[in-house]
Amino acid sequence: MHYQPKHDLLDQRIILVTGAGDGIGREAALTYARFGAQLILLGRTESKLQAVQAEIAAGGGAPAHIVTLDLLQATPEQCQQIANALQACVPRLDGVLHNAGLLGDIAPMAELSLTMWHDVMQVNVNATFMLTQALLPLLLKSSSGSLIFTSSSVGRMGRANWGAYAVSKFATEGMMQVLADEYRTRNLRVNCINPGGTRTQMRASAFPDEDKSKLKTPADIMPLYLYLMGDDSRRKTGISFDAQPNRKPGAAE
Ligand code: NDP
Repeated sequence: MHYQPKHDLLDQRIILVTGAGDGIGREAALTYARFGAQLILLGRTESKLQAVQAEIAAGGGAPAHIVTLDLLQATPEQCQQIANALQACVPRLDGVLHNAGLLGDIAPMAELSLTMWHDVMQVNVNATFMLTQALLPLLLKSSSGSLIFTSSSVGRMGRANWGAYAVSKFATEGMMQVLADEYRTRNLRVNCINPGGTRTQMRASAFPDEDKSKLKTPADIMPLYLYLMGDDSRRKTGISFDAQPNRKPGAAE
């Protein structure tokens, strides 16, 4: 995407990113902070979140909050407690990037264990739903809130062996469409990003043998993440965007 954001695009905006400790989420948090946002970093590994928090501070960004939560164990009560605690320290949320995800096993459906199925659905769908429900009141306090879900090409067209992960991403696309329709007349837009093959840990475990140098880095795909979080996308809702629109799904060749 060719997008030239203004340097103060996210000034005064308060943004929560899940899975902010590594991969695409880490890069998104650092990028949003560089463009002026105050960050809430949510993830399961506190040390990684602290490293991101320190990097934001070193770059002169607004002090970031840390929320430690393992989405695999998340309950509606925990999500509500997090929302209550946030309410006490921030006036609103202008953006939420649901980025954390679990890949699970790459295996034929016939061989998928029920435990793995449940785990992938819990992290990618159920916890995303619970957090969204708890955070909606804070998002609706923004004059132009942006709720972003993270999809995948296998969440639009099923592919052999991508089992629970693919199904969870179809559900993510559905959750985005339902919410976008429900809030169409309010100050909240809801969209999906499909990052496309990107050089991260998750990608390496899905395609261990591919040539990583052929993959875009998380930093390369940030223009779309900025566009959707800032006011230039104010009228866009209910859309599933590709961060790498010309890329063919599958392993890098
Ligand atoms: P990474 O595995 O590199 O990072 C995922 C992040 O999510 C990590 O910070 C991880 O925490 C966090 N996370 C995972 N499980 C949990 C959990 N149970 N509770 C809290 N946090 C958790 O993945 P990517 O950056 O590659 O992926 C980000 C998103 O993009 C995912 O939704 C993925 O499905 C999607 N995507 C990625 C593509 C790619 O090529 N990379 C392609 C298409 C979609 P920790 O650091 O503690 O492990």
